Amino acid sequence: MKKRYNLKRNDLCPCESGKKYKYCCEGKVDWNQIIKEGKDRTPHFSIRGRNILFIAKIAEALQLDSVIPLTSKQELRAAFTPEAVKKIHEALIDVWPLNTDIQNVLQSARSDVSGLYVGDYRREHIFKGLIRHSIYANKIIVVDPFVYPYSVRDEYNPILTPEQYRAQTLKNVNFWFLLAPWIDAGIVEIIRTPNDFDRKLNWESLKRQSKKFKENEELRKILEKSVSEFSTREKGKMIFKQLILPAPNEYLKKVFIDAHLGKHGLTLEKFIAFIEEERGKDPDFLETFKPGKNTRQLITFSSGASYEIAKLTANLTGSYLVTDIYSRWKEIEIDRESQNVESREWAPLAKAFQSLEFKFLNNLSLEHTLILRKEKRLENLRVFLRKVWKSACTTEPFSEINAKNLADELVSEIKRAEVEWKQIDLDLLKWLGAELLAVGEQIVSGSGYFFAAAFAIAGAIEVGVTQLKRKSFQDKFPAAFFMKLK
Ligand SMILES: [Zn+2]
Repeated sequence: MKKRYNLKRNDLCPCESGKKYKYCCEGKVDWNQIIKEGKDRTPHFSIRGRNILFIAKIAEALQLDSVIPLTSKQELRAAFTPEAVKKIHEALIDVWPLNTDIQNVLQSARSDVSGLYVGDYRREHIFKGLIRHSIYANKIIVVDPFVYPYSVRDEYNPILTPEQYRAQTLKNVNFWFLLAPWIDAGIVEIIRTPNDFDRKLNWESLKRQSKKFKENEELRKILEKSVSEFSTREKGKMIFKQLILPAPNEYLKKVFIDAHLGKHGLTLEKFIAFIEEERGKDPDFLETFKPGKNTRQLITFSSGASYEIAKLTANLTGSYLVTDIYSRWKEIEIDRESQNVESREWAPLAKAFQSLEFKFLNNLSLEHTLILRKEKRLENLRVFLRKVWKSACTTEPFSEINAKNLADELVSEIKRAEVEWKQIDLDLLKWLGAELLAVGEQIVSGSGYFFAAAFAIAGAIEVGVTQLKRKSFQDKFPAAFFMKLK
């Protein structure tokens, strides 16, 4: 029997935006017809719909029953065969085909306050950014870390040469799975940028970007500084992750002897056991290198999109930019100075933002931030910041007096938020306490940072609740748009 389909205005929209049909596609997309005729729905999917579809396709390619992340890392790693890597990238093309009307898809993602993240993609950095900004933004837009197969030469095409993308794909999938509950809740959306679908735009923006850095000495110096700071800070960690962890134990034995690691009493067994433990802990670790059996792995570092593409994307989605990269921040500043006289008028507010001390969830996990958000905590602050954003978007010139008033209001909102925060602190203790007992093991494997925080707080219960707790939550409040994220 044929099922009759009749979409009602109050039904959830079939584009999977999470909104009701009447607030979403009604009058724009004839879903009744599409479903009746059994047509391909993908071209009409919202970003959230595409994200959910892609996650399902990843799980299918890896032959996983569910997408609960990091439950069995061993099992997950073994699933990353070249065949699975190829399938995942083919799924990416299915979800975002070359003829995607990207402008339309991005424009339909507009919401009253959304941030586009173009910062550091290493796990702890990007999640810190998401946690911070999700407190007030309706939505955070993130550029997909997967390389678009059509954007690279054949030798780097993950569909043609999947073997070399196994480690990076594991990393990307971990990223997607960790964000899955946020995508589901409609807070995070993972997008592709317009340059994926437009080679000319891609090429020309690359050229303009390189010209800009060549011509602006200040910018170039800042970039060099950002890069050198990054490499001094991260070199050790990266060598450890990419060279030591994947090295065969035979090789580690040689290192142990050559570097005289035993001279302070460390034994080879202990050293190997330590490395084994680290391999087990790192969710992005794929396998040890076996000469002749597996090949080199391509590892990419991303910051989402270049400034120019980010700006274009931000315009289409109506977002402000969020970054924790200093040189990127400088690009924003220079650009604003050269184009926008309003920057000066915003100065009092920007100043107020930057000088704010805000207790924040620096050490809290994504899950707990999501609870805060779902329980509508800190709602007053969100309402206020939405107001600020709306004033910024109006076409009328923004006055300095207006900015001053908003700055005053901001200070009082923060005071209110701090009162609310005290209650959140107490609730956090409850959540953390219960979860530590129930899923202690899982927390340990999921996030070392989180575990450290949980320990500090658990200790604080005994020694005197407020003081220690406060210390661990103190941090600067980074309201993007005109703020540095440090
Ligand atoms: Zn819709």
